[in-house]
Amino acid sequence: MIRIAIQAKGRLNEDSMELLAEAGMKIADSRRKLLTQAEGFPLEVLYLRDDDIPQAVADGVADIGIVGLNEVGEKDMDVEVLHRLGFGQCRLSLAIPKEEGYDGLQWFEGKKIATSYPGILGRFFSEKGINACIETIAGSVEIAPSVGMADAIFDIVSSGGTLVSNGLKEVEKVVFSEAVLIGNRMLTDEKRQLLSQMIFRFEAVERSRGMKYMLMNLPEDKVEEAVKILPGMKSPTVLPLAQTGWCSVHVVVREDELWTKIEQLKEIGAEDILVLALEKTIR
Ligand code: ATP
Ligand code: MG
Repeated sequence: MIRIAIQAKGRLNEDSMELLAEAGMKIADSRRKLLTQAEGFPLEVLYLRDDDIPQAVADGVADIGIVGLNEVGEKDMDVEVLHRLGFGQCRLSLAIPKEEGYDGLQWFEGKKIATSYPGILGRFFSEKGINACIETIAGSVEIAPSVGMADAIFDIVSSGGTLVSNGLKEVEKVVFSEAVLIGNRMLTDEKRQLLSQMIFRFEAVERSRGMKYMLMNLPEDKVEEAVKILPGMKSPTVLPLAQTGWCSVHVVVREDELWTKIEQLKEIGAEDILVLALEKTIR
């Protein structure tokens, strides 16, 4: 049995649950319970606030956890970052009132900066030799300058919309973050084994993200041209059809290229094109 800590509610909860489900670990939706058991894998799920996940994993309360790199960096706990998960992307940035002129990091010298990430910001400023006053606040950081609590902020940014609507502009992107799988450093062999099975499944799910499986009928003499259009996993699978002179071509394509590929294939004579969901890719 292995125990994973995930965010109880918030931005990472849904994607974390979905990843587990796609990897064949079904969790009954009983979020009011702090600890539940998954079906289909010897896994227990512990629901926590994201701030508490690095420590829970470092202390062994949970064996592994899904949390933003930003929280891992801030809490500075001794945990292993095992795998990047590709969701929850954001960055931690310095932002100042939009009417201020900005000529580089020196701007922050002697200023008061509001943030929920004093650890990361403190390390950044001391690396850069900036002396600033870091004001730690738990939430609503973006309103601090307009109410006179601080001169600037250091906070999570994804689209930047929140900054703009609070009259701020992003001037320094300090660190990038995404959700990661972290692990305790002292896992038993049995748990390591379960962990590598989990990562194997996550990778199969990740490889299929944004990919579609496409099949079509094509005149045999057009196969070579089709191969040039379709850079499949290795090369497309080509199967004979009962009707002579025709074949069936199967290939995996990136979803963002799907329509351009379809148009090119139709031009060389492809017919009956089917596009199917691709769930898992095992290597
Ligand atoms: P909790 O109640 O668990 O402490 P929280 O309010 O601290 O939740 P959320 O806002 O749910 O945190 O964000 C969780 C994580 O999602 C962040 O730490 C960050 O890694 C990631 N994230 C990705 N995009 C964004 C964004 N636009 N704003 C905030 N967090 C984001
Ligand atoms: Mg939090």
